[in-house]
Amino acid sequence: MKFKTAIAAASLTALSAAGIATGAAAADGQLDWKYTDGMTAERWSNANSDYAACDAGAMQSPIELDQASAIGDVKLSAAYGNAAGKLAIGTHKVQVDTPTGQGMISGDRLFNLLQVHFHTPSEHAVSGKRYPLTAHLVHATSDGTLGVLGIMFEAGAANPALQNIVDAMPRGNGGDVTVDMSDMVPADLSVHRYMGSLTTPPCSENVNWHVAETVMTASPAQIAAFEGALGMTARSLQPLNNRLLVAPSK
Ligand SMILES: [Zn+2]
Repeated sequence: MKFKTAIAAASLTALSAAGIATGAAAADGQLDWKYTDGMTAERWSNANSDYAACDAGAMQSPIELDQASAIGDVKLSAAYGNAAGKLAIGTHKVQVDTPTGQGMISGDRLFNLLQVHFHTPSEHAVSGKRYPLTAHLVHATSDGTLGVLGIMFEAGAANPALQNIVDAMPRGNGGDVTVDMSDMVPADLSVHRYMGSLTTPPCSENVNWHVAETVMTASPAQIAAFEGALGMTARSLQPLNNRLLVAPSK
């Protein structure tokens, strides 16, 4: 965590202003929106007019990554480490809220890590393929600009950071969990880069998306644990429209 001292308090206020915190939920804790099969359009704006951007926005996520409009290596550096976080668990949600002091620098902007959450299967696709699990590391700059680093996992060797989260899940919402985020992020930070949105309502745009080219591994048991906790949690692929999508050079 080499730039720890440079990181101001993460802007949770900005995050909630962007609508990322909870989404709307009824009193019984049920969401007022639902996933489809991951391919059929969800039409979330029909459920709640606050979600208009989900269907009317032209910069939505996730997308198919194998349609790059440019090749280039994004200047990205990251400083993640071992830190004590809190579980946030709910319907379709397994998340770890992280303490300040970690993050990434993308394009000379410092993005403070706020939380990591998961989807099964992955939301972004590569040549039509979705991986069984993805982590979304959600960050914000001090002015509230959101930036996400997406990491995909395929079946293979167990990941120690994921294991810490799996082991902590029974503690439930608010439970303590210590995770070394550096174990979840590939050493090679070649990324696909584009401007997109939150992938859940209210689908707010102007999110700086980075999806790592390197796919990490998780054990079949770890993948099964996340699938069991999350269920189907991948939004349908959204049109690229006229956005710039930069793919890494290798
Ligand atoms: Zn996500």
